[in-house]
Amino acid sequence: MGEPVALPAREFPGFQRVVVLDPGHNGGNAANPDIINSPVPDGRGNTKACNTTGTSGNDGYTEHEFTWDVASRVRELLSARGIRVEMTRDSDTGVGPCVDQRAAFANGTGAAAIVSIHADGATGANARGFHVAHSSPPLNDAQGEPSARLAATLRDTLVNSGFTPSTYIGDNGLNPRADLAGLNFAERPAALVECGNMRHPEDAAILESPDGRAGLAVAIAAAITAYLG
Ligand code: ZN
Repeated sequence: MGEPVALPAREFPGFQRVVVLDPGHNGGNAANPDIINSPVPDGRGNTKACNTTGTSGNDGYTEHEFTWDVASRVRELLSARGIRVEMTRDSDTGVGPCVDQRAAFANGTGAAAIVSIHADGATGANARGFHVAHSSPPLNDAQGEPSARLAATLRDTLVNSGFTPSTYIGDNGLNPRADLAGLNFAERPAALVECGNMRHPEDAAILESPDGRAGLAVAIAAAITAYLG
């Protein structure tokens, strides 16, 4: 008798991989500044605000509404593929959660991947395009190669889906960062997608249209699926 053959975990009936989707901000944040502005640990020895209101398009379309819509679409696509999806907030009308609490929730699920969804609000006439952040320098093994690979897979899939990498930040759509608490606290592979610049007219046309958001969701879901292998 040799060693028992260990099957990959996914072969066991009933096993579901878990993906955490983290839609940035929340609809109740703006009305609750005392909660949202309270300092929380940033994961690198400093503090930052619990959460922020997020940005908006020039016409007032809000980032929290955008992130909730895209994350909900990605959840539907992944769920249809048998992946269990957990979200860091359960509506677009609540307050928070704080960024450190979102990370703690995500870590607690044992997620195979954690993907935060945002849109940017940069000024500058030529500032457009998406970028993907991951923790750098990494604070643990999960933030190293796995998170960098998750971020690169998101970048590659978005480019292959026709989305424009950022003209104003990062390097060809990738932007390693040390200042995002959610990524700093991640104990599982994690990346954050800034889907575009809400202040740029061409990006806004994508971000504010249901078809544009559907296309982003398809690309993000495809990237997560590809990453999971
Ligand atoms: Zn944001």
